[in-house]
Amino acid sequence: MSDSLWIVLLGAPGCGKGTQAEFLVSENGFSIISVGEMLRANKSKFIEKENKTIGEIISGGTLLPDDVVMDLVSDELSKIKQVSSKNLIFDGFPRTVGQATSLNSLISKFGKKIDCVLNFDIEDEVIKKRILGRYKCSKCGKIYNDFFLKPRNEGICDICGCEVFDRRADDNEESLQKRLSEYHKKTVALKDFYESSGILKSVNADADFSEVRKSVLNNLNLG
Ligand code: AMP
Repeated sequence: MSDSLWIVLLGAPGCGKGTQAEFLVSENGFSIISVGEMLRANKSKFIEKENKTIGEIISGGTLLPDDVVMDLVSDELSKIKQVSSKNLIFDGFPRTVGQATSLNSLISKFGKKIDCVLNFDIEDEVIKKRILGRYKCSKCGKIYNDFFLKPRNEGICDICGCEVFDRRADDNEESLQKRLSEYHKKTVALKDFYESSGILKSVNADADFSEVRKSVLNNLNLG
């Protein structure tokens, strides 16, 4: 078994795990498997079992079938060179106990196990504001929020001056209700799953970015 660190970021949509993951990649040298990003990149792929494209399933706010997600993750793992020796983040995955069990057996083939699971704690009410308000610059990707962080000059990106912004198709009230309900029905159970292996750690995600980052680093013994 190598001593690289493989971690899972767990939490409701909009809890801020994606932003923290970006920093673990850019500042701490982690590699990342972000299933949401991978699915968005394959949004026109048709899933027969659901009779819908991946994009349609995402817009509806429900989870993709476990086998579809596991195939993607398995492919992605085999593409990362010398993956066993890398520090690796699974972001937004696993989201069901079935995925978590399959992940354990998949990574055992690489001589690996999940070392730490960071659970981002936050209330649904805060999440609603974060998600329904969020948008990003279509050119440089800088993230803004109608409630918490507007550009200094309305409609103009602070970083690159671009005037075009994007919102995710599933960041609307109806999808969000469904995503939160899927989270409570299927994903929350992962807390007990990982708690029973003694690897679950808690991060207060209702705090500003730098406090959350500090807590993430402390929990990973990187602080
Ligand atoms: P995210 O970017 O993590 O918020 O994911 C966006 C959407 O992609 C979710 O609402 C699901 O429809 C789908 N998705 C992402 N990760 C998973 C997963 N691990 N299992 C099933 N569906 C997923």
